[in-house]
Amino acid sequence: MGGSYNVIIVGAGMAGLCAACEAAQSGAKVLVLEKEEAIGGSSLLSGSFMAFAGTDLQKKVGIVDTSDLLIEDMLEVGQGKNEKKLVEAYGAHQLETYQWLVENGVEFEAVRAASGHSVPRGHTIKPLQAITTLYNKALATGNVSFELEAIVKRLRKNSDGQISVVIYERDGLEYFAKAEQGVILTCGGFSKSEDMLESFAPQLHAALRIGGKGNVGDGIKLAWEHGAWVRDLPYLQGTYGFHPTASGEKKSQAHVFYKGAIIVNKQGKRFVNESISYKLLGTEALKQPETVSYQIWDQAIMNESVSGDALYDFENLYALGLIEKADSLEELAKMIDVPVVSLKETVAKYNEDIQSGGDQEFGRTTLTHTFGQPKPIIQAPYYAMVTTVAMLATYAGLEVNADAEVLNPYNEPIEGLYAAGEIAGGFHGAGYMTGSSLGKASIFGRIAAQKVVAKPVQIKENLSI
Ligand SMILES: Cc1cc2nc3c(=O)[nH]c(=O)nc-3n(C[C@H](O)[C@H](O)[C@H](O)COP(=O)(O)OP(=O)(O)OC[C@H]3O[C@@H](n4cnc5c(N)ncnc54)[C@H](O)[C@@H]3O)c2cc1C
Repeated sequence: MGGSYNVIIVGAGMAGLCAACEAAQSGAKVLVLEKEEAIGGSSLLSGSFMAFAGTDLQKKVGIVDTSDLLIEDMLEVGQGKNEKKLVEAYGAHQLETYQWLVENGVEFEAVRAASGHSVPRGHTIKPLQAITTLYNKALATGNVSFELEAIVKRLRKNSDGQISVVIYERDGLEYFAKAEQGVILTCGGFSKSEDMLESFAPQLHAALRIGGKGNVGDGIKLAWEHGAWVRDLPYLQGTYGFHPTASGEKKSQAHVFYKGAIIVNKQGKRFVNESISYKLLGTEALKQPETVSYQIWDQAIMNESVSGDALYDFENLYALGLIEKADSLEELAKMIDVPVVSLKETVAKYNEDIQSGGDQEFGRTTLTHTFGQPKPIIQAPYYAMVTTVAMLATYAGLEVNADAEVLNPYNEPIEGLYAAGEIAGGFHGAGYMTGSSLGKASIFGRIAAQKVVAKPVQIKENLSI
């Protein structure tokens, strides 16, 4: 334990594993420190979508997509608040990263449309398959050591002012490891830190907490100590689409709204355009009376359930007893305890608007972003799911440049310190495109590793610890 490495990576989720593989495949000696007893973090719990454009999988089903369109969608969804250079770097490296993942054994199964997609571009993985495969790939290089239950506590600079020593705790003992070329923080966000959520996003008090157990913002604090700047705290948002009984193990998620369901509050009234980013839906849902809302749909939409899909397997949630079903809207309204007249009026108005060219109340013209055509809710039986918001991932974090270097408040790189994945801020801006989080973890994990290994190895040994 301890010792000297070219690169030290803190956290073994998607970003950390991609960084480890990339660095090790170029011959670097790598140490990965993971605080939990198992690798995977939030990546392992994730819903499985990765946003890529122009892939073989899309072409196979006739979807025309490009990096430029993906960049355009991301900037639009982020309401221009995202750092353009980071989004462009994603665009420039996304297709090559998709191919790199495939070459390294990650299996992509299908392509689906979800939040922020103007064409279907959510490439589905099985998180366990992806994480295990990347872990085994990293080990197979013979250049990577993994230490589990190794909690990184502090970072220290050498006398040249470069971050180069990682102090970590394992089995109650303290260890020092030296990074000759750099340290990459891939230790996720703070979706499981009540302290940080209370400090930066008290509006999310009622949101469920579903994220990796170790994601309590350690990395942000490690970098703060050395003067890192932070981006996007005002845009912390939960994700809409979960049953209130959802947890990390039982995600119970149904995004029926992206297949045409409407969303109503306890008064039986719509309050939002259902096709927008599910983060923005989350923000609106938390403002409703008692923070309660329901998705409402019919049999035609139910028929679009996709078995085994993380977002669209409605039949499974119905079988689990989490979805109500009734032969009429009256009966459904009674089952979920919303005013019958109000729900019937809401559905009738929506149907009329949709059929006569546009939703007059909230401007819904699509299913998700600019994709798909809403249809009236008319075919009995009818369905309802009480739906809530979950804090899955924080997306506000360390300011980085397109080389994944962590920046101080003056936009200067903090020597030797890199960050990738959920820990990095500035990327998503005010909205979110499904699949861009696992996407950015893989893309920027690789970029960080490439930049670190390209740096000259330090020759000085005098460390100021
Ligand atoms: C339920 C759910 C569904 C999701 N669905 C999707 C989806 O479909 N598509 C998508 O793009 N995104 C999705 N996300 C978000 C996405 O999964 C995460 O943002 C992404 O996986 C983050 O990857 P990461 O490698 O940055 O962090 P993680 O995978 O969280 O890995 C970070 C690791 O660092 C470790 N760590 C933390 N602190 C320390 C420390 N001090 N020392 C050592 N190790 C430390 C943690 O234990 C953890 O293992 C979802 C998230 C959740 C929770």
